[in-house]
Amino acid sequence: MHTRKIFIFLLLFLSFILSCQQAKDSSQEDHKLRVIATIFPVYDFARNIGGDKIEIKMLLPPGIDAHHFEPRPGEIIRVCKSDIFLFTNFEMEQWAYKIISAADKNTNMLAIETGSGAVLLPFSKEDEHENRASGFDPHIWLDMDNAQKMVDNIAAAFVKKDSRNSDYYLKNAHNYKLKLMDLDKRFRSELTGCKTKTILHAGHWAFAYLARSYNLQYIAVCNVFADTEPSPQKILSLIEQVKNEKAHYIFYESMINPRLAQTIAQEAGVGLLKLNSGHDVSRADIKKGESFISIMETNLENLKKGLKCSKM
Ligand SMILES: [Zn+2]
Repeated sequence: MHTRKIFIFLLLFLSFILSCQQAKDSSQEDHKLRVIATIFPVYDFARNIGGDKIEIKMLLPPGIDAHHFEPRPGEIIRVCKSDIFLFTNFEMEQWAYKIISAADKNTNMLAIETGSGAVLLPFSKEDEHENRASGFDPHIWLDMDNAQKMVDNIAAAFVKKDSRNSDYYLKNAHNYKLKLMDLDKRFRSELTGCKTKTILHAGHWAFAYLARSYNLQYIAVCNVFADTEPSPQKILSLIEQVKNEKAHYIFYESMINPRLAQTIAQEAGVGLLKLNSGHDVSRADIKKGESFISIMETNLENLKKGLKCSKM
């Protein structure tokens, strides 16, 4: 039995190496850039920049929690065969190390930390994890300046791998950054005159960048990696805050069991509004043709309603 397991392991290992070697050979040919992006914001930025010059796939299936994803051997091989592997940062996708080290010597795959150079926020002390060395909040794309930095990094990677189309990539990146700037302006102008200044979130700590950008306070019941149940104290403190703020709504997300948000809302006597952090898009969202921009527009509408802002 034991020998058979070793044999199967060797066979899998050999096929993995061979696949990587094949990837190296085929990458020399003339083809569209094959891009694999980990999560939805990175995927959506990249498809806007790459247009019809790239073939792009999202590594995480819709609805899968990126914080706790573990790539299977087949997925590692798939990335290994790509030209460019785009991820956010090593705090968001810790498992990216595994992919990069597996592909390192065997392929021409270019791995890009798209969040490189982003302005980072620490997460709260109570959320510190022993195995998380850096201690920063990984949800960087919810700051529009950081999102633009990610766009620049993705465009630079496309130019590096496919310099013949560099004008095309740079123009698309420029146009997409204009859209992000426009979105930022809308958030800045429409989240003014709000009666409530605190985002009360029955979800995981994902919106600190957004709150900071628009001078809002932020309270969430689950930690930054959504890996523990919220403590009764955190739930009680959110309910307390609802009363202090005289809020009419709290926010929820699809990644956390909606029953928790429903219970809190019932207890506090308020309604529920959805906020989408962008990394938890569902299959239905993809089918509907949602984009990062459209998700953020819905977030803005719900924030305006939930915070009772004057510009409705
Ligand atoms: Zn998250």
